[in-house]
Amino acid sequence: MPKLHTIPVPDIGDFKDVEVIEVLVQPGDTVRPEDPLISLESDKASMEIPAPRAGTVKALHLKVGDKVSQGSPILDLEAEEEAEAGPAEEGPQGESAGPAAAAPSQREDTGAREADSRPAAAAPPAAEADLRCQVLVLGSGPGGYTAAFRAADLGMDVILVERYPVIGGVCLNVGCIPSKALLHAAQVIDEAQSFERHGIRFGAPQIDLDKLNGYKDGVVRKLTSGLQHLAKQRKVRVVQGVGTFTSPNTLAVQGEAGEQHIAFEQAIIAVGSRPVRLPALPWDDERVMDSTGALALRDIPGRLLVVGGGIIGLEMACVYDALGSKVTVCELSDDLMPGADRDLVKPLEKRIRGRYEAVYTGTRVTGAEATDAGIRVHFEGGKAPAQDTFDRVLVSVGRLPNGAQIQAEAAGVTVDEHGFIRTDGQMRTQVPHIFAIGDVVGGPMLAHKATHEAKVAAEVAAGHKSHFDARAIPSVAYTHPEVAWMGLTETRAKKEGIAYTKATFPWAASGRALSLGGEGGLTKLLLDEQQRVIGAGITGPNAGELLGEALLALEMGADVEDLALTVHPHPTLSETLCFAAEVAHGSITDILPPRGK
Ligand SMILES: Cc1cc2nc3c(=O)[nH]c(=O)nc-3n(C[C@H](O)[C@H](O)[C@H](O)COP(=O)(O)OP(=O)(O)OC[C@H]3O[C@@H](n4cnc5c(N)ncnc54)[C@H](O)[C@@H]3O)c2cc1C
Repeated sequence: MPKLHTIPVPDIGDFKDVEVIEVLVQPGDTVRPEDPLISLESDKASMEIPAPRAGTVKALHLKVGDKVSQGSPILDLEAEEEAEAGPAEEGPQGESAGPAAAAPSQREDTGAREADSRPAAAAPPAAEADLRCQVLVLGSGPGGYTAAFRAADLGMDVILVERYPVIGGVCLNVGCIPSKALLHAAQVIDEAQSFERHGIRFGAPQIDLDKLNGYKDGVVRKLTSGLQHLAKQRKVRVVQGVGTFTSPNTLAVQGEAGEQHIAFEQAIIAVGSRPVRLPALPWDDERVMDSTGALALRDIPGRLLVVGGGIIGLEMACVYDALGSKVTVCELSDDLMPGADRDLVKPLEKRIRGRYEAVYTGTRVTGAEATDAGIRVHFEGGKAPAQDTFDRVLVSVGRLPNGAQIQAEAAGVTVDEHGFIRTDGQMRTQVPHIFAIGDVVGGPMLAHKATHEAKVAAEVAAGHKSHFDARAIPSVAYTHPEVAWMGLTETRAKKEGIAYTKATFPWAASGRALSLGGEGGLTKLLLDEQQRVIGAGITGPNAGELLGEALLALEMGADVEDLALTVHPHPTLSETLCFAAEVAHGSITDILPPRGK
């Protein structure tokens, strides 16, 4: 018996009053689950809202230009009752409709509750498959190759599917590694320049872009060819092509040689993410770039606009500034690097406000057009002009998961409206023999999170009782100076009313920091009532390297005495962790102890 359902806008995270930029269906159209109904565009991202169930569109409740929020009615859909997939609160699959933000950090054990919706686990592999394996890993980024290698080391027969000819994913090819190679080059330039005031003057750098790109590409090549070698040694079969699920136990791979079908007993989805593209920009013009384009380093633009003042945007700004571009940064929030504590970002902000052409916070890019003179960009808010023209524009406003591109529904795996795949603490999706890891499951989109999740998934697939229960995922901006933090932040503690005390050691009192030009640095520990480390923040040269000790302290439940009584080598930056602990302990001698200690 057909029934009329009014389909509302689902949970779209924090977005409100988002503009409808496209209506993709008309009355009379029939839709299948996941078919796109409308496109929305906010200042941060554009997104498609998919059909939650199959049916026939009877009436539209909105038009292009309307502003919608969660719950706004989209259309009336006539659907057969038995064919319903069920809205969030009705059916066993309902959790998939949860907000993207809830997926990563609030992972729950979905396995037990969703038993009814599971496809038959480990169904016999399709007889007609070209290849068979025990574990199929889809995507070869840090999540995928780690999962594949760990599973192989645990004795399983593994196939790794990757769309590109080179394995390593975003991290090795167009992310962490090439960016850090360029940041090192930038640091060499910055340090050489800064030594003029100490009596050593170098000439202006002469930059051979081909050689610089060669250095960067060489670092990447060494790592990716090393991975290829490791895959061979472990007998992991690498299949190149775009994979899509065809059933709970089969994957089709479209490669240059045509289509292959792989039958698997278990699968690990590690398809990662891609950059958000602000639709208001002329992307067909090569002067508008995402992070991949910026890393290609085709030229050194005279004037560069970086849209997005988060970690990736500020790292690339740092590179282009050192190479000689006049950099402008535009950030929508009122603060650069949202999420990090202000005292940690301050030294970086002070430096770049003094060096860059402009840093606009609380400012939105509303549009842009390509002109002969450059990319003319329109701004709204903050202290930005109404418009300005740049030689290149780098858009770095976040990343979107690739979950919606792999026909996960054919395997019975639910992908939420943002493209995230939910997992439990063992990285299982609601289909028990299919796991998901890395950027596609949400949380901080960071390589080290992906690799740790990967090991859990591979171990669970091999029958081990592993569980992902890291207490903190560190964040590091490899800017100059670096900004690094982990665990509780003061920003979050204040927002959520979490009790803490803090101990801070200013690097101006560290001999090693002074000799490195890092006197603006800071090491901060956040402590609970028992004086145990529950968070830490560091800014200054090598902050990212130093953070490891604080992470170990947190994971081991160490308190300030453990840190303060550990003899650290002198003179090193690592001493600043010991000194911060001594501040809390009351035994500090390198600065005055805090009052009352
Ligand atoms: C410029 C930049 C700098 C960064 N710097 C850092 C950093 O310093 N530290 C850090 O921790 N993180 C950093 N990141 C983030 C980091 O790169 C990601 O978090 C990490 O790569 C995620 O790993 P993953 O395995 O989940 O996915 P990815 O690395 O995205 O890999 C997914 C792989 O799956 C493949 N794939 C996708 N769909 C299919 C399909 N259907 N069929 C076949 N193959 C498919 C893709 O081609 C890709 O190779 C950076 C990112 C960028 C863009």
